[in-house]
Amino acid sequence: MKRFIALLTVSVAVITSPVFAKPKNIILLIGDGMGESEIALARDYEFDGEAGLYVDEMKNRGSVIVKQLMIEDPTKIQFTGESASGGTTISTGNRTSQGRIAVSAFDGSPFKTILEEAQEKGFKTGLVTTAIITDATPAAFAAHAQDRYCFMSSSKACANFNDTPIVEQMLDHNVDVMLGGGYNLLPAKEAGGRTVKEKAEAQGYTVITKRDELLALEPGKKLFGVFSNGHMPVEWVGPGGKGADFIEVDEDRVVIFPEPAACEANPKYEGIPRLEEMAKYALDTLKNKDKGFFVMIEGASIDKQAHVARPCGTISEMLAFDRTVKMAVEFAKKEGNTAVIVTADHGQATQIIYKPEAYFGPLRRDHIPGFYQLLLTKGGNELGAYYGTNNINDQAHTGVNVPIYTYGLKKPEELEGVIQQTKVYGEMKKFLFD
Ligand SMILES: [Zn+2]
Repeated sequence: MKRFIALLTVSVAVITSPVFAKPKNIILLIGDGMGESEIALARDYEFDGEAGLYVDEMKNRGSVIVKQLMIEDPTKIQFTGESASGGTTISTGNRTSQGRIAVSAFDGSPFKTILEEAQEKGFKTGLVTTAIITDATPAAFAAHAQDRYCFMSSSKACANFNDTPIVEQMLDHNVDVMLGGGYNLLPAKEAGGRTVKEKAEAQGYTVITKRDELLALEPGKKLFGVFSNGHMPVEWVGPGGKGADFIEVDEDRVVIFPEPAACEANPKYEGIPRLEEMAKYALDTLKNKDKGFFVMIEGASIDKQAHVARPCGTISEMLAFDRTVKMAVEFAKKEGNTAVIVTADHGQATQIIYKPEAYFGPLRRDHIPGFYQLLLTKGGNELGAYYGTNNINDQAHTGVNVPIYTYGLKKPEELEGVIQQTKVYGEMKKFLFD
Protein backbone atom coordinates (compact mmCIF):
# COMPACT_ATOMS: atom_id res chain seq x y z
CA MET A 1 0.00 0.00 0.00
CA LYS A 2 2.80 2.36 0.92
CA ARG A 3 4.45 1.61 -2.41
CA PHE A 4 1.20 2.23 -4.26
CA ILE A 5 0.77 5.65 -2.61
CA ALA A 6 4.35 6.58 -3.47
CA LEU A 7 3.80 5.62 -7.10
CA LEU A 8 0.54 7.53 -7.21
CA THR A 9 2.22 10.64 -5.82
CA VAL A 10 4.94 10.45 -8.47
CA SER A 11 2.50 10.01 -11.32
CA VAL A 12 0.32 12.88 -10.10
CA ALA A 13 3.40 15.11 -9.93
CA VAL A 14 4.39 14.14 -13.46
CA ILE A 15 0.95 14.81 -14.86
CA THR A 16 0.26 18.06 -13.06
CA SER A 17 3.59 19.85 -13.07
CA PRO A 18 3.57 21.00 -16.74
CA VAL A 19 0.11 22.49 -16.28
CA PHE A 20 1.21 24.69 -13.40
CA ALA A 21 4.77 25.37 -14.57
CA LYS A 22 5.14 29.09 -15.05
CA PRO A 23 6.92 30.00 -18.26
CA LYS A 24 10.46 31.25 -17.88
CA ASN A 25 11.84 34.34 -19.50
CA ILE A 26 15.33 35.70 -20.07
CA ILE A 27 16.04 39.37 -20.65
CA LEU A 28 19.66 39.63 -21.77
CA LEU A 29 20.96 43.20 -21.92
CA ILE A 30 24.26 43.83 -23.69
CA GLY A 31 26.00 47.16 -23.30
CA ASP A 32 28.27 47.14 -26.33
CA GLY A 33 31.77 48.25 -25.34
CA MET A 34 30.57 48.74 -21.76
CA GLY A 35 33.76 48.39 -19.74
CA GLU A 36 34.13 49.82 -16.24
CA SER A 37 35.52 53.06 -17.74
CA GLU A 38 32.40 53.70 -19.78
CA ILE A 39 30.22 52.97 -16.74
CA ALA A 40 32.34 55.24 -14.53
CA LEU A 41 32.22 58.04 -17.12
CA ALA A 42 28.41 58.02 -17.06
CA ARG A 43 28.29 57.75 -13.26
CA ASP A 44 30.74 60.63 -12.84
CA TYR A 45 28.96 62.89 -15.31
CA GLU A 46 25.42 62.28 -14.10
CA PHE A 47 25.94 61.55 -10.39
CA ASP A 48 29.35 63.08 -9.62
CA GLY A 49 30.77 59.71 -8.68
CA GLU A 50 27.90 58.68 -6.40
CA ALA A 51 26.51 55.17 -7.01
CA GLY A 52 23.44 56.54 -8.79
CA LEU A 53 23.20 54.13 -11.70
CA TYR A 54 20.65 51.35 -11.46
CA VAL A 55 23.36 48.74 -12.12
CA ASP A 56 25.17 50.10 -9.05
CA GLU A 57 22.33 48.64 -6.96
CA MET A 58 22.56 45.17 -8.50
CA LYS A 59 24.25 43.03 -5.88
CA ASN A 60 24.76 39.85 -7.90
CA ARG A 61 27.70 40.71 -10.07
CA GLY A 62 30.83 39.20 -11.57
CA SER A 63 33.74 40.04 -13.83
CA VAL A 64 33.92 38.48 -17.29
CA ILE A 65 37.16 37.54 -19.06
CA VAL A 66 37.15 38.80 -22.65
CA LYS A 67 39.26 37.26 -25.42
CA GLN A 68 38.86 35.94 -28.95
CA LEU A 69 40.64 33.66 -31.39
CA MET A 70 43.11 34.93 -33.99
CA ILE A 71 41.70 35.18 -37.51
CA GLU A 72 44.77 33.73 -39.26
CA ASP A 73 45.44 31.00 -36.70
CA PRO A 74 42.47 30.24 -34.42
CA THR A 75 44.64 28.05 -32.20
CA LYS A 76 46.13 31.35 -30.99
CA ILE A 77 44.41 33.82 -28.66
CA GLN A 78 43.87 37.53 -29.29
CA PHE A 79 43.54 39.31 -25.95
CA THR A 80 40.78 41.69 -26.90
CA GLY A 81 37.15 41.40 -27.94
CA GLU A 82 34.77 42.52 -30.63
CA SER A 83 30.99 42.47 -31.10
CA ALA A 84 30.73 39.55 -33.54
CA SER A 85 33.05 37.25 -31.64
CA GLY A 86 31.77 38.46 -28.24
CA GLY A 87 28.14 38.15 -29.34
CA THR A 88 28.88 34.62 -30.56
CA THR A 89 30.49 33.71 -27.24
CA ILE A 90 27.47 34.98 -25.30
CA SER A 91 24.88 33.51 -27.70
CA THR A 92 26.52 30.08 -28.21
CA GLY A 93 29.15 29.51 -25.51
CA ASN A 94 31.92 29.27 -28.10
CA ARG A 95 34.88 31.54 -28.70
CA THR A 96 35.43 32.56 -32.30
CA SER A 97 37.48 35.12 -34.22
CA GLN A 98 36.77 38.77 -35.02
CA GLY A 99 33.94 39.41 -37.47
CA ARG A 100 32.39 35.94 -37.30
CA ILE A 101 28.67 35.65 -36.53
CA ALA A 102 27.81 32.40 -34.68
CA VAL A 103 30.24 30.32 -36.75
CA SER A 104 33.47 28.50 -35.95
CA ALA A 105 36.79 30.29 -36.44
CA PHE A 106 38.25 26.99 -37.62
CA ASP A 107 35.92 25.77 -40.35
CA GLY A 108 33.07 28.28 -40.51
CA SER A 109 30.50 25.74 -39.35
CA PRO A 110 27.47 27.23 -37.57
CA PHE A 111 27.01 27.19 -33.79
CA LYS A 112 23.43 26.92 -32.59
CA THR A 113 22.41 30.02 -30.60
CA ILE A 114 20.38 30.32 -27.40
CA LEU A 115 17.70 32.18 -29.38
CA GLU A 116 17.46 29.32 -31.88
CA GLU A 117 17.22 26.74 -29.11
CA ALA A 118 14.57 28.77 -27.32
CA GLN A 119 12.61 29.11 -30.54
CA GLU A 120 12.75 25.37 -31.21
CA LYS A 121 11.27 24.80 -27.78
CA GLY A 122 8.40 27.19 -28.50
CA PHE A 123 9.64 30.29 -26.68
CA LYS A 124 8.92 33.68 -28.17
CA THR A 125 12.00 35.68 -29.14
CA GLY A 126 13.02 39.28 -29.61
CA LEU A 127 16.00 41.44 -30.58
CA VAL A 128 16.22 45.14 -29.74
CA THR A 129 19.18 47.42 -30.49
CA THR A 130 20.14 51.03 -31.10
CA ALA A 131 22.43 49.88 -33.94
CA ILE A 132 21.28 48.84 -37.40
CA ILE A 133 19.22 45.71 -36.66
CA THR A 134 21.65 43.54 -38.67
CA ASP A 135 24.65 44.69 -36.62
CA ALA A 136 26.94 42.08 -35.08
CA THR A 137 25.35 41.82 -31.62
CA PRO A 138 21.74 41.08 -32.67
CA ALA A 139 22.99 39.11 -35.68
CA ALA A 140 24.97 36.77 -33.42
CA PHE A 141 21.65 35.49 -32.02
CA ALA A 142 19.68 34.95 -35.25
CA ALA A 143 22.13 34.57 -38.14
CA HIS A 144 25.31 32.79 -39.17
CA ALA A 145 27.94 34.52 -41.28
CA GLN A 146 31.70 34.52 -41.80
CA ASP A 147 31.66 38.30 -42.30
CA ARG A 148 29.56 40.49 -39.98
CA TYR A 149 29.18 43.22 -42.60
CA CYS A 150 27.06 41.07 -44.94
CA PHE A 151 23.94 43.06 -43.93
CA MET A 152 21.94 42.93 -47.20
CA SER A 153 22.42 41.65 -50.73
CA SER A 154 24.14 44.86 -51.84
CA SER A 155 26.78 44.62 -49.04
CA LYS A 156 30.16 43.90 -50.62
CA ALA A 157 31.07 41.73 -47.61
CA CYS A 158 28.55 39.07 -48.71
CA ALA A 159 30.80 38.13 -51.62
CA ASN A 160 33.79 37.38 -49.38
CA PHE A 161 32.41 34.09 -48.07
CA ASN A 162 29.14 33.74 -49.95
CA ASP A 163 27.17 34.51 -46.78
CA THR A 164 23.39 34.84 -46.99
CA PRO A 165 22.56 38.47 -46.11
CA ILE A 166 21.97 38.79 -42.38
CA VAL A 167 18.68 40.71 -42.77
CA GLU A 168 17.24 37.81 -44.79
CA GLN A 169 18.43 35.23 -42.25
CA MET A 170 16.89 37.24 -39.42
CA LEU A 171 13.52 37.51 -41.19
CA ASP A 172 13.61 33.79 -42.12
CA HIS A 173 14.11 33.12 -38.44
CA ASN A 174 10.74 34.68 -37.65
CA VAL A 175 12.05 36.39 -34.52
CA ASP A 176 8.81 37.78 -33.07
CA VAL A 177 10.01 41.33 -32.42
CA MET A 178 12.98 43.05 -34.07
CA LEU A 179 13.52 46.73 -33.30
CA GLY A 180 16.48 48.93 -34.12
CA GLY A 181 18.04 51.12 -36.76
CA GLY A 182 18.19 50.47 -40.49
CA TYR A 183 15.27 51.64 -42.62
CA ASN A 184 17.82 51.67 -45.42
CA LEU A 185 17.55 47.85 -45.34
CA LEU A 186 13.91 47.94 -46.49
CA PRO A 187 14.37 48.67 -50.22
CA ALA A 188 17.25 46.16 -50.57
CA LYS A 189 16.47 43.33 -52.97
CA GLU A 190 16.66 39.79 -51.65
CA ALA A 191 17.52 36.64 -53.62
CA GLY A 192 13.91 35.98 -54.70
CA GLY A 193 13.64 39.45 -56.25
CA ARG A 194 11.42 40.99 -53.55
CA THR A 195 12.54 43.86 -51.37
CA VAL A 196 13.34 43.26 -47.72
CA LYS A 197 10.15 45.14 -46.84
CA GLU A 198 8.05 42.89 -49.09
CA LYS A 199 9.75 39.82 -47.66
CA ALA A 200 9.05 40.96 -44.10
CA GLU A 201 5.38 41.65 -44.87
CA ALA A 202 5.01 38.32 -46.66
CA GLN A 203 6.23 36.69 -43.44
CA GLY A 204 3.56 38.39 -41.42
CA TYR A 205 5.59 41.25 -39.98
CA THR A 206 4.16 44.68 -39.38
CA VAL A 207 6.89 46.99 -40.69
CA ILE A 208 7.25 50.42 -39.07
CA THR A 209 9.83 53.20 -39.35
CA LYS A 210 8.61 55.92 -36.97
CA ARG A 211 8.62 56.39 -33.21
CA ASP A 212 4.98 57.58 -33.27
CA GLU A 213 3.95 54.33 -34.94
CA LEU A 214 5.74 52.32 -32.25
CA LEU A 215 4.15 54.28 -29.41
CA ALA A 216 0.67 53.91 -30.94
CA LEU A 217 0.97 50.20 -31.62
CA GLU A 218 -0.89 47.66 -29.46
CA PRO A 219 1.49 45.05 -28.00
CA GLY A 220 1.35 41.62 -29.62
CA LYS A 221 2.31 42.42 -33.19
CA LYS A 222 4.97 40.43 -35.01
CA LEU A 223 7.06 43.51 -35.56
CA PHE A 224 10.00 44.64 -37.70
CA GLY A 225 10.69 48.25 -36.67
CA VAL A 226 13.63 50.12 -38.17
CA PHE A 227 13.80 53.79 -37.21
CA SER A 228 16.91 55.37 -38.73
CA ASN A 229 19.27 55.24 -41.68
CA GLY A 230 21.82 52.76 -40.27
CA HIS A 231 22.65 53.12 -36.57
CA MET A 232 20.39 55.29 -34.45
CA PRO A 233 21.57 58.76 -33.45
CA VAL A 234 22.41 59.16 -29.76
CA GLU A 235 20.70 61.47 -27.31
CA TRP A 236 23.63 63.76 -26.53
CA VAL A 237 26.54 65.39 -28.32
CA GLY A 238 29.51 67.20 -26.81
CA PRO A 239 29.73 70.95 -26.11
CA GLY A 240 29.11 72.78 -29.39
CA GLY A 241 28.35 69.44 -31.06
CA LYS A 242 32.01 68.42 -30.81
CA GLY A 243 33.71 65.28 -29.51
CA ALA A 244 37.15 64.86 -27.95
CA ASP A 245 39.95 66.45 -29.94
CA PHE A 246 43.67 67.18 -30.03
CA ILE A 247 44.64 69.63 -27.30
CA GLU A 248 47.35 72.13 -28.14
CA VAL A 249 50.51 72.85 -26.19
CA ASP A 250 52.25 76.26 -26.08
CA GLU A 251 55.99 76.97 -26.61
CA ASP A 252 56.67 76.28 -22.94
CA ARG A 253 54.98 72.87 -23.23
CA VAL A 254 52.04 74.08 -21.18
CA VAL A 255 48.81 72.39 -22.27
CA ILE A 256 46.09 74.83 -23.30
CA PHE A 257 43.05 73.11 -21.80
CA PRO A 258 39.60 74.19 -22.98
CA GLU A 259 36.99 75.47 -20.55
CA PRO A 260 34.96 72.55 -19.19
CA ALA A 261 31.45 72.41 -20.63
CA ALA A 262 28.32 70.26 -20.40
CA CYS A 263 26.94 67.77 -22.92
CA GLU A 264 24.17 69.03 -25.22
CA ALA A 265 21.03 67.53 -26.71
CA ASN A 266 21.57 66.04 -30.17
CA PRO A 267 19.10 67.64 -32.63
CA LYS A 268 19.34 64.50 -34.79
CA TYR A 269 17.79 62.46 -31.95
CA GLU A 270 14.36 63.99 -32.63
CA GLY A 271 11.80 61.32 -33.53
CA ILE A 272 14.04 58.41 -32.54
CA PRO A 273 12.46 55.89 -30.15
CA ARG A 274 14.21 55.51 -26.80
CA LEU A 275 15.86 52.18 -26.07
CA GLU A 276 13.46 51.69 -23.15
CA GLU A 277 10.44 52.39 -25.38
CA MET A 278 11.53 49.70 -27.85
CA ALA A 279 12.36 47.34 -24.98
CA LYS A 280 8.97 47.94 -23.35
CA TYR A 281 7.13 47.10 -26.56
CA ALA A 282 9.20 43.91 -26.88
CA LEU A 283 8.56 42.81 -23.26
CA ASP A 284 4.80 43.53 -23.46
CA THR A 285 4.59 41.60 -26.73
CA LEU A 286 6.73 38.61 -25.79
CA LYS A 287 5.12 38.09 -22.37
CA ASN A 288 3.01 34.93 -22.62
CA LYS A 289 1.47 32.30 -20.35
CA ASP A 290 2.59 29.41 -22.47
CA LYS A 291 6.31 28.94 -23.04
CA GLY A 292 8.08 32.12 -22.00
CA PHE A 293 10.54 34.18 -24.02
CA PHE A 294 14.12 35.10 -24.75
CA VAL A 295 14.99 38.69 -25.64
CA MET A 296 18.32 40.41 -26.23
CA ILE A 297 18.39 44.21 -25.78
CA GLU A 298 21.51 46.12 -26.81
CA GLY A 299 22.81 49.60 -26.02
CA ALA A 300 25.05 49.68 -29.09
CA SER A 301 26.46 53.18 -29.06
CA ILE A 302 28.33 53.00 -25.75
CA ASP A 303 30.85 51.39 -28.12
CA LYS A 304 30.15 53.30 -31.32
CA GLN A 305 30.55 56.70 -29.68
CA ALA A 306 33.77 55.63 -27.94
CA HIS A 307 35.14 54.60 -31.36
CA VAL A 308 34.77 58.19 -32.52
CA ALA A 309 35.92 59.68 -29.17
CA ARG A 310 32.59 61.26 -28.28
CA PRO A 311 32.18 60.86 -24.51
CA CYS A 312 28.78 62.64 -24.35
CA GLY A 313 27.38 60.11 -26.85
CA THR A 314 28.70 57.24 -24.75
CA ILE A 315 27.30 58.78 -21.54
CA SER A 316 23.79 59.32 -22.95
CA GLU A 317 23.69 55.80 -24.38
CA MET A 318 24.96 54.36 -21.08
CA LEU A 319 22.22 56.22 -19.17
CA ALA A 320 19.55 55.01 -21.62
CA PHE A 321 20.87 51.47 -21.25
CA ASP A 322 20.81 51.78 -17.45
CA ARG A 323 17.18 53.03 -17.50
CA THR A 324 16.33 50.02 -19.65
CA VAL A 325 18.02 47.67 -17.17
CA LYS A 326 15.87 49.18 -14.41
CA MET A 327 12.73 48.64 -16.47
CA ALA A 328 13.76 45.03 -17.20
CA VAL A 329 14.36 44.22 -13.51
CA GLU A 330 11.06 45.83 -12.52
CA PHE A 331 9.34 43.73 -15.19
CA ALA A 332 11.09 40.61 -13.84
CA LYS A 333 10.05 41.39 -10.25
CA LYS A 334 6.44 41.76 -11.29
CA GLU A 335 6.33 38.86 -13.71
CA GLY A 336 8.40 36.33 -11.72
CA ASN A 337 10.34 33.44 -13.29
CA THR A 338 12.33 35.98 -15.27
CA ALA A 339 16.11 36.28 -15.23
CA VAL A 340 17.79 39.54 -16.18
CA ILE A 341 21.42 39.30 -17.27
CA VAL A 342 23.33 42.51 -17.96
CA THR A 343 26.80 42.36 -19.48
CA ALA A 344 29.09 43.64 -22.23
CA ASP A 345 30.81 41.99 -25.16
CA HIS A 346 34.12 43.84 -24.67
CA GLY A 347 35.63 47.04 -23.26
CA GLN A 348 36.37 50.27 -25.07
CA ALA A 349 39.15 52.85 -25.22
CA THR A 350 37.60 55.46 -22.91
CA GLN A 351 39.88 56.59 -20.10
CA ILE A 352 39.04 59.00 -17.32
CA ILE A 353 42.08 61.20 -16.94
CA TYR A 354 41.90 64.55 -15.25
CA LYS A 355 44.41 66.59 -17.25
CA PRO A 356 46.94 64.69 -19.34
CA GLU A 357 50.40 66.23 -19.60
CA ALA A 358 52.34 67.33 -22.68
CA TYR A 359 55.07 65.22 -24.29
CA PHE A 360 58.46 65.62 -22.69
CA GLY A 361 61.87 64.79 -24.12
CA PRO A 362 63.78 66.32 -27.03
CA LEU A 363 61.00 66.04 -29.61
CA ARG A 364 58.53 68.90 -29.07
CA ARG A 365 54.97 68.36 -30.31
CA ASP A 366 52.22 70.88 -30.65
CA HIS A 367 49.50 68.80 -29.03
CA ILE A 368 49.09 66.17 -26.33
CA PRO A 369 48.85 62.53 -27.40
CA GLY A 370 45.35 61.18 -28.13
CA PHE A 371 42.00 62.94 -28.03
CA TYR A 372 40.67 64.74 -24.96
CA GLN A 373 37.54 66.49 -23.81
CA LEU A 374 36.94 68.31 -20.55
CA LEU A 375 33.31 68.03 -19.47
CA LEU A 376 31.45 69.84 -16.74
CA THR A 377 29.42 67.34 -14.73
CA LYS A 378 25.85 67.88 -13.52
CA GLY A 379 27.28 68.81 -10.12
CA GLY A 380 29.74 71.32 -11.62
CA ASN A 381 32.94 69.25 -11.44
CA GLU A 382 35.57 68.86 -14.18
CA LEU A 383 35.59 65.42 -15.85
CA GLY A 384 38.30 64.55 -18.37
CA ALA A 385 37.67 61.88 -21.03
CA TYR A 386 40.71 60.66 -22.93
CA TYR A 387 41.15 58.36 -25.94
CA GLY A 388 44.66 57.40 -26.84
CA THR A 389 44.68 54.21 -28.89
CA ASN A 390 45.37 56.08 -32.14
CA ASN A 391 45.25 59.53 -33.69
CA ILE A 392 42.48 58.84 -36.18
CA ASN A 393 38.83 58.75 -35.23
CA ASP A 394 38.50 55.01 -34.74
CA GLN A 395 39.53 54.04 -31.23
CA ALA A 396 40.26 50.39 -30.47
CA HIS A 397 38.48 47.90 -28.23
CA THR A 398 40.40 46.71 -25.19
CA GLY A 399 40.89 43.36 -23.50
CA VAL A 400 39.71 44.44 -20.04
CA ASN A 401 37.26 42.32 -18.09
CA VAL A 402 33.68 43.49 -18.40
CA PRO A 403 31.03 43.37 -15.66
CA ILE A 404 28.07 41.04 -15.47
CA TYR A 405 25.04 41.78 -13.27
CA THR A 406 22.15 39.39 -12.78
CA TYR A 407 18.70 39.35 -11.26
CA GLY A 408 16.46 36.34 -10.77
CA LEU A 409 18.84 33.45 -11.48
CA LYS A 410 18.38 30.40 -9.27
CA LYS A 411 22.11 30.19 -8.72
CA PRO A 412 23.45 33.72 -9.21
CA GLU A 413 26.80 32.67 -7.74
CA GLU A 414 27.54 30.79 -10.98
CA LEU A 415 27.99 34.17 -12.69
CA GLU A 416 29.84 35.83 -9.81
CA GLY A 417 33.56 36.20 -9.18
CA VAL A 418 35.80 36.07 -12.24
CA ILE A 419 34.21 34.00 -14.99
CA GLN A 420 34.79 33.10 -18.63
CA GLN A 421 32.44 34.76 -21.13
CA THR A 422 31.52 31.29 -22.44
CA LYS A 423 29.73 30.60 -19.15
CA VAL A 424 26.90 33.06 -19.74
CA TYR A 425 25.35 30.86 -22.45
CA GLY A 426 25.34 27.76 -20.23
CA GLU A 427 23.64 29.57 -17.36
CA MET A 428 20.97 31.04 -19.66
CA LYS A 429 20.33 27.56 -21.06
CA LYS A 430 20.02 26.04 -17.59
CA PHE A 431 17.61 28.75 -16.49
CA LEU A 432 15.36 28.43 -19.52
CA PHE A 433 15.35 24.69 -20.17
CA ASP A 434 16.16 22.81 -16.94
ZN1 LIG B 1 33.22 48.42 -31.54
